[in-house]
Amino acid sequence: MQPSIPAVFGRNFCSLPVDLPIRACYNGRRLAPNLTIEETPVPNPRKPLRLNVGFLVSAAAGYHRDFDFYLPKLADEEDETLTLLEVQGRVRISRTPQGLLVEGAFEGEIQLECVRCLSDYPQHLHWEFTELYAFTRDNITDSGLLVPEDAHIDLQPLVRDFGLLEIPIKPLCRADCKGLCPECGQNLNLRDCGHRAAFDSPFSALKDLF
Ligand SMILES: [Zn+2]
Ligand SMILES: [Zn+2]
Repeated sequence: MQPSIPAVFGRNFCSLPVDLPIRACYNGRRLAPNLTIEETPVPNPRKPLRLNVGFLVSAAAGYHRDFDFYLPKLADEEDETLTLLEVQGRVRISRTPQGLLVEGAFEGEIQLECVRCLSDYPQHLHWEFTELYAFTRDNITDSGLLVPEDAHIDLQPLVRDFGLLEIPIKPLCRADCKGLCPECGQNLNLRDCGHRAAFDSPFSALKDLF
């Protein structure tokens, strides 16, 4: 269902909630067709994080817009083991004098192998990032991002790369993972093979005293 577009009179339309599609008018007359601030564009299924930010480039400094995303799968083209799953989050893009400031907060999952018990498990990840897409090279940051001429930015590399940075160096299926029995290889989270007690701890001999 298409929401009706509210006509906004006077000069105070910037104070309206930004998630409304806004048609700028003055005293009941539309000023110009190019003053229409467009609704969030429908995402391209092949590039679901690609956005047309032209309306933000032409907005006044201080204007911002939030974009919500849910992606069942965010694959890495080079390495399939780095596929992020159930990715969801929000990106706020703010127009600044220097460029578009992109602030993201995401969460998702990745399948990892536990370093102790060697079983696969889903690791929950949470990540945030802030990057500036500069308008000109004078304002470019270390990340080297510029607003392209066609005003389409693809946030996928940013979202994915910052997510992958959150992968723990020593993945554990759970904090108290018991690991594998060094004697028979049994996953001790699933079953106690009985071998472990003999060399479990330097104090294990103490239990014979009780
Ligand atoms: Zn484990
Ligand atoms: Zn064992």
